[in-house]
Amino acid sequence: MIIVMKPEATLADLTAVENKITNSGLDFHLSKGSSRTIVGVIGDKKKIAGLQMNSLAGVEKTVSITEKYKLVSRDFQKEYSVVDVNGAKIGGNHLAIMAGPCSVENREQLLEAAKAVKMCGAQFLRGGAFKPRTSPYDFQGLGVEGLKMMRSVGDEVGLNIVTEIVNINDLDTICQYADMLQVGARNMQNFQLLKEIGHTKKPVLLKRGLCATISEWLNAAEYIASGGNYNIVLCERGIRTYETFTRNTLDLSAVAAVKELSHLPIIADPSHGTGRWQMVRPMARAAVAAGADGLMIEVHPHPEVALSDGDQSLTPKNFELVMNEVKQIATMMGKSL
Ligand code: PEP
Ligand code: MN
Repeated sequence: MIIVMKPEATLADLTAVENKITNSGLDFHLSKGSSRTIVGVIGDKKKIAGLQMNSLAGVEKTVSITEKYKLVSRDFQKEYSVVDVNGAKIGGNHLAIMAGPCSVENREQLLEAAKAVKMCGAQFLRGGAFKPRTSPYDFQGLGVEGLKMMRSVGDEVGLNIVTEIVNINDLDTICQYADMLQVGARNMQNFQLLKEIGHTKKPVLLKRGLCATISEWLNAAEYIASGGNYNIVLCERGIRTYETFTRNTLDLSAVAAVKELSHLPIIADPSHGTGRWQMVRPMARAAVAAGADGLMIEVHPHPEVALSDGDQSLTPKNFELVMNEVKQIATMMGKSL
């Protein structure tokens, strides 16, 4: 249930509402918007069903939410959220661009990629230091050494850095170096990890699971929000279907669905979404046209020798072509870098 307070509700009205909720053995989350406060009631379904709040002073209406996710839903908050990462905004009329190599391989590679993406307007350098590889014999990433490289290159070039967390034990270390955490497709339902991230204030990019429904994905986001961390950005990165020509099927309808269901910003990753560099450009255009708040794109100075995901990585030159087109489409969508 969510309780919408009247714009003129007083602090005493709000306190009375909070007391009634906690006295009934339930918990709540407050969302203070520009014009009104919304109280999300959390806890046992039966207890919530018996809660009578409409007669309390200052209460405008109560809305029961059928979906399990509440804090991330648009029933809870109508206005779309904007996540701010050191001044780089994701959501609203901003187009966020996160680009860089799949894996951090060495400083030269990272620096070259960083300079190229920065020149085209990216605000974030992406790169994996801890890699969740399908085969244990594939390159697993440089670990903490890679994180340090990300930080130093990000600082040198002037880019925020976003990098994946694979192991919950690395949370403090990654928080120390990264501006934004990435939860990858394979960990979207690692609920312990999501809960721990919920207890930090670090912005987090939550990728859609390989086979996750939109509802499962939003519930994963709810795990993070319910811990108190609202700095969540969703990323559609393709789902498993019966198609084999592409690595995954980029589900751009999820962008429109999420805009209907949730106030969280959503970006798209046409690199993992297709697995083919040739398809990144048209799918990047389509994602922005569908209303995505940004893009994550893999860029490597020499994709032919990349240690991971070379087939889907763009050269700096091709990234520039994509960005030139995407910027025009963004303008039509009322967004800019
Ligand atoms: C990545 O971004 O490098 C990655 C591994 O992505 P995903 O979790 O979407 O497969
Ligand atoms: Mn990759």
